[in-house]
Amino acid sequence: MTSFSESEERQELRRQVARLASKYGREYFTEQARSGGKTTDLWLEMGKNGYLGINIPGAYGGGGGGIGDIAAVCEELAAQGCPLLMMVVSPAICGTVIARYGTEEQKQRWLPGIADGTGTMAFAITEPDAGTNSHNITTTARRDGDEWVLNGRKIYISGVDEADNVLVVSRAEDAKTGKLKPCLFVVPTDAVGFEARPIPMEIVSPEQQFQVFIDDVRLPGDALVGDEDAGLVQLFAGLNPERIMAASFSTGLARFALGKAAAYAKERTVFQGPIGGHQAIAHPLAMSHIEIEMARLMTQKAAALYDAGDDMGAGEAANMAKYAAAEAACDAADRAVQTHGGNGITQEYGMAGLLVATRAGRIAPVSREMILNFVAMHSLGLPKSY
Ligand SMILES: Cc1cc2nc3c(=O)[nH]c(=O)nc-3n(C[C@H](O)[C@H](O)[C@H](O)COP(=O)(O)OP(=O)(O)OC[C@H]3O[C@@H](n4cnc5c(N)ncnc54)[C@H](O)[C@@H]3O)c2cc1C
Repeated sequence: MTSFSESEERQELRRQVARLASKYGREYFTEQARSGGKTTDLWLEMGKNGYLGINIPGAYGGGGGGIGDIAAVCEELAAQGCPLLMMVVSPAICGTVIARYGTEEQKQRWLPGIADGTGTMAFAITEPDAGTNSHNITTTARRDGDEWVLNGRKIYISGVDEADNVLVVSRAEDAKTGKLKPCLFVVPTDAVGFEARPIPMEIVSPEQQFQVFIDDVRLPGDALVGDEDAGLVQLFAGLNPERIMAASFSTGLARFALGKAAAYAKERTVFQGPIGGHQAIAHPLAMSHIEIEMARLMTQKAAALYDAGDDMGAGEAANMAKYAAAEAACDAADRAVQTHGGNGITQEYGMAGLLVATRAGRIAPVSREMILNFVAMHSLGLPKSY
């Protein structure tokens, strides 16, 4: 192994996950999406084999690995045509935050279910009026004796219907200053006053997004994750894993699209020889291969920095990886559609659906504009623009 390739163990993990996911494949995924089904079978089999919780500490039912491992799992799933957004949310964001900052009791209660897939956790920060500007969220937690009372609205929350709990980013009044500070709460999806309504989306996926209504939801004192005064630090702890996972989701989808396009270009013949012999078809696909490999390399760098404890270095690399991966995926999907001609827009070939799926990577979990803002400011030292 050189420092430019992953360990044999990681490569074997990729092969195993790819093998498992290929049993399900793209047809299973789209079939579930179009019939209103779920990918629970795949999810639970992933959990049973230890892949879902590979980054969760061993003491709480996980594999004791790092973000690099769970990102590899996410990428290989997507590369087989089964991109699972809940991989980004449940083990990577919620699992990381709770493992790093939860109390011993909270880790024991929630991490084993996140690891084996029987206790999936969604993550809710986005609000209709705050959008990208998370500092403007208005979901508020108020103390009432030993309990908390939560009120607010969330939007585009993935997988609430598949989750037992949602890690909700809220604000609570600081007892000393009276100012509102960020706090994270674990909210059961069956709590009284908690309602989730699906948002019709154009993405072909069994995983749905929801509008969430939180009206006087009463929570026990220990629903607050970790320390009341460390909400912001805890929140930031989830951001690098989120971006690294989103990048892996995108590079996996991009590999899937490119694989299909290259296979088609080798077969389809309309003049003399297969269409892949025309540089107009071959070059864009070759460009995608280069762009995907560059994004994968940056994603692996970000994961390696994060797993080595370099949060600052990982922050810059994770943002750049997420940007590069989303761009590579959008272009790969577009080129895959073009390579397929008319077939590119049929449900049978399933390429056009990838346009929206990859496009979402430019918007969520952080938009390309906010990444460019970050790089302009932090990497180039330019003035803050917002
Ligand atoms: C498929 C999908 C799944 C999601 N899952 C979740 C989830 O599980 N949990 C969750 O909490 N959220 C989730 N989200 C929400 C997602 O994180 C937000 O959509 C995203 O952060 C952008 O917020 P917004 O949609 O409100 O856009 P807005 O904030 O309204 O932004 C609109 C546009 O303006 C641009 N813009 C805004 N401010 C600036 C600025 N200062 N400089 C330059 N450009 C700017 C943005 O980049 C964007 O292009 C999901 C979204 C999608 C699409």
